[in-house]
Amino acid sequence: MTLKVRANLVFALALVAFGALMWFSQTESQRFSENNRWVSHTRDVLELSELLPAHLTDAAAARGAYIRTGDPAQFQKFDAATNLVLRDLAQLRGLTADNPGQQLRLVQLDPLVHSRLSLLKASMESHQRNSHDRAVQDEFAAQSANISSQLLAVIVTFEGVERSLLELRLAQAEASDVRATKINAIRSVFVFLSLLLVFWFLNREFARHERAERATIEQKRLLQSILDSCSDSVIVADKSGSIILRNPVASRENALIHAVSLDQNYPELLGLYKDDGQTLYKTEELALARALRGESVYGLEMCSRPLNGEQISWKLAAGGPLINAQGEKEGGVVFVRDITDRKEADRRLSAALQDAEIHARENVELSELGDLLQSCLTVEEAYKLSEKALTNIFGSHAGALCIINPSRDLVEARAVWNNCATTEIAFSPDDCWALRRGKPYGENGSGTPIACSHLRGSLTGDYLCVPLIAQGETLGVMYLDKGPQPSGPLSEGGQVQQARLSRLAIAVAERVSLALANLRLRELLRNQSIRDPLTGLFNRRYLEESLNRELRRAARTKRPVSLVMLDLDNFKHFNDTFGHQAGDLLMKEVASLFKTRLRAGDLACRYGGEEFSLVLCEADVEGTLKCVRNICEAVRLLSVEYRGQTLGRITISAGIANYPAHKDNMEDLIHAADKALYMAKKNGRDCIVVFDGQKTTTQETLLPVIG
Ligand code: GH3
Ligand code: MG
Ligand code: MG
Repeated sequence: MTLKVRANLVFALALVAFGALMWFSQTESQRFSENNRWVSHTRDVLELSELLPAHLTDAAAARGAYIRTGDPAQFQKFDAATNLVLRDLAQLRGLTADNPGQQLRLVQLDPLVHSRLSLLKASMESHQRNSHDRAVQDEFAAQSANISSQLLAVIVTFEGVERSLLELRLAQAEASDVRATKINAIRSVFVFLSLLLVFWFLNREFARHERAERATIEQKRLLQSILDSCSDSVIVADKSGSIILRNPVASRENALIHAVSLDQNYPELLGLYKDDGQTLYKTEELALARALRGESVYGLEMCSRPLNGEQISWKLAAGGPLINAQGEKEGGVVFVRDITDRKEADRRLSAALQDAEIHARENVELSELGDLLQSCLTVEEAYKLSEKALTNIFGSHAGALCIINPSRDLVEARAVWNNCATTEIAFSPDDCWALRRGKPYGENGSGTPIACSHLRGSLTGDYLCVPLIAQGETLGVMYLDKGPQPSGPLSEGGQVQQARLSRLAIAVAERVSLALANLRLRELLRNQSIRDPLTGLFNRRYLEESLNRELRRAARTKRPVSLVMLDLDNFKHFNDTFGHQAGDLLMKEVASLFKTRLRAGDLACRYGGEEFSLVLCEADVEGTLKCVRNICEAVRLLSVEYRGQTLGRITISAGIANYPAHKDNMEDLIHAADKALYMAKKNGRDCIVVFDGQKTTTQETLLPVIG
């Protein structure tokens, strides 16, 4: 049972009790006044009953006076007293109408009164007629005394009854008065107690109310201090959307912008944008609007870009409806937290992760590039492979690997990707600032003072030249067309990309440089192992390797291969005549001559001393003979100068063996060509001999062909 119900019940009971007391009191008051009325009624009756004999006495006195004095005025007094007696009698009849006993007595009294008055009247009239009527008067007196005594007896009885009634009614009035007094006392006590109870109750309620008020004030103060110390913005709106409360943070944030209600302009006024920072929120999408619709909102991110040009900040909003005790919506509340720092940290972390991811991917790509380049056998192969690999690595960015030629006076584009057309494909090393300075060079956002001269006019954006340096040697330059300088809101990201591209280009250049240097070194070593240092021709070991390979290929393709063995005639004598160094020079010249007279797929080797061998692929005996004839003729006509002195002419002898015409394996073929050469020497030198033996016979027949 609630306090209110209990209080109402107590007050209802008190009211009922009070009402009952009032009723009793009223009833008693009525009874008391009724009794009093009866008492005064009885007193009136008594008074009249006393007046009646008095007025009778007055009438009798008027008769007596008349008798004694004969004064006619006594008739008038008599009549007046008679009237009063009759009035008294009539009044007594009226007053005792409720009392049959007294009425009866009045009935007895009435003739007696009239008789007495008639006697008195008759006495006076008699005396008027005859003033000397003593005897008559005595008779009248005797009759009157008789009637008077009867009359008195009736009046005494009448009065006795009335007096008894008076006593009774007085007692009743007194009792009624006592009861009324008691009831009044009870009522007073009740009222006093009720007032005491009400006083106590009100005091208790006041104290309770005061406590509740103090608690409410304390709670309000606490809530206010929470709101004041809250680092989030707290905004409360009523159900019409009018903003009714802002905590200090919210007031501070909106100090310059006056938004009093959540209307259509609210997002625009406060500059509330979506994640992308460009799309304005619609009013109904805002947390406060949703809260007013009864939704609970969590984690609504907003980019705040106020119209007044305040700094951009990021916010996280949450909110919900305000519901009163009856479960009705009264408005909405939103909490808005500034998450700019967190967003920035997230952005940095994400950028770092992205960077690390890209870095890792680049490392993988670089590692793959390194592996691929390591697998290349020649620099040419490396150039070809680079074109493809660098297209993958640099995406749409075009570029070229420009290599310095052996004479170091020209830089040539040897690998070009994405159809790079923004650089010359051949230029002087001095045209490139990267080559001049020995470090990366290129235009970036800030702009380099001077662009490289090898750039073409078609270049519209940035570029980067990275020198290819390995093992202390500058091999060339890697050129990269970086594309246009980014601008606009994403320029920061674009610049990061440009920087990353430069870093990648430098890493790629390092890998390529190292690979090219290694390949060059490998080629050098290989050349050294397969080439003769004096003439630059392949050596005997390489000849055997190659001849074997060519014979296998010939067997597959069913094509012929010729082996030619050549030996300078009387070279000892030449040496002796012109000196060993002159002999070396001559041998070099002869070797050069071989290179110029042979086709691309053919091989020229120094077999040993002043002896050479040629492998002519896909050449039959006839063709070989024709080629060797030319060579021998050219040697014969060779004129070499050494230290201002023209050296003497020299001739050469040659022996030819052919696969499959003469032999079908390398050893036999070499042996056969050797044999033919021997025959050429034997035949007097400066001639060519074709081996003419059968494959199955051991005894070869040698025929001199040319002299
Ligand atoms: P033939 O016509 O019979 O071949 O007579 P030849 O003198 O050429 O032959 P021989 O075998 O008697 O002598 C070969 C000479 O070749 C001896 C050597 O001095 C010379 N010779 C071998 N290798 C070199 C070299 O590398 N440089 C020079 N200058 N001479 C060499
Ligand atoms: Mg010789
Ligand atoms: Mg020789």
